Amino acid sequence: MSLSVRILGASGGIGPGRRTTSILIDNDILIDAGSGVGDLTLEELRRIRHVFLTHSHLDHIAFLPMLADMVYSPDAPPVHVHGLPATLKALCDHVFNWVIWPDFTRLPRPDQPLIRLESLQPGHSIAVEHREIQVLPARHTVPAVGYSVTNSDGAAFAFSGDTTSSHLLWPALNALPHLDLLMIETGLPDEMEGMADLAKHYTPQHLGEDLAQLQHRPRIAITHLKPGHEQAIRQQLARSPHHDGMIFLHGDERFELGAHP
Ligand SMILES: [Zn+2]
Ligand SMILES: [Zn+2]
Repeated sequence: MSLSVRILGASGGIGPGRRTTSILIDNDILIDAGSGVGDLTLEELRRIRHVFLTHSHLDHIAFLPMLADMVYSPDAPPVHVHGLPATLKALCDHVFNWVIWPDFTRLPRPDQPLIRLESLQPGHSIAVEHREIQVLPARHTVPAVGYSVTNSDGAAFAFSGDTTSSHLLWPALNALPHLDLLMIETGLPDEMEGMADLAKHYTPQHLGEDLAQLQHRPRIAITHLKPGHEQAIRQQLARSPHHDGMIFLHGDERFELGAHP
């Protein structure tokens, strides 16, 4: 059985044709809930059972409150929202607090809420039917993780989330049995290295250096390019020795990752 990966949003900003980070796996698992979620129909939204958040930044959670509101009904099954404890706390403190949005972690009933928060840590592995989600380490300005998703036939996808160069990420990726598609951020161009160090995003130079550590040969899909700097980031990554087959995501791609015999 193949693993379906639908990129809903893959930009570092907004504007015509740009949506922020969100990925739909097999119709029922969402990784991050940026503005890309806004392209899903009500039927598609209602099929989502699990949301895995990489971190608390707005471009990755902005449409989670709207998703909750859209699928709400008195008998709706719970949506499991997974994230680091710091990410879940930020959601409770700053979003689902009755000021910005109703507290769907306690509605319609505290013992049967629409949103069930589930905390995780790097190294954890969560089984969702025939898929296994592994939590990958990331290094960003707030606590952050990436995720890999592997199905029972071995098809595998990994997403870095927002991260700068991390000596923990690459060994974790190498430990996966297979890797068909790696979606990884390159938020800022080389000439903004100072800003990238502060904001903890990859630059083309740093990603090119780190890709040498990767033992798998997946397709590399670049995401989270800062609007206005897309062309520079593309040209700088083209100098990387690993640029063959590299793709630059727009946020409207679908991948069907095949089984490994
Ligand atoms: Zn971020
Ligand atoms: Zn981001």
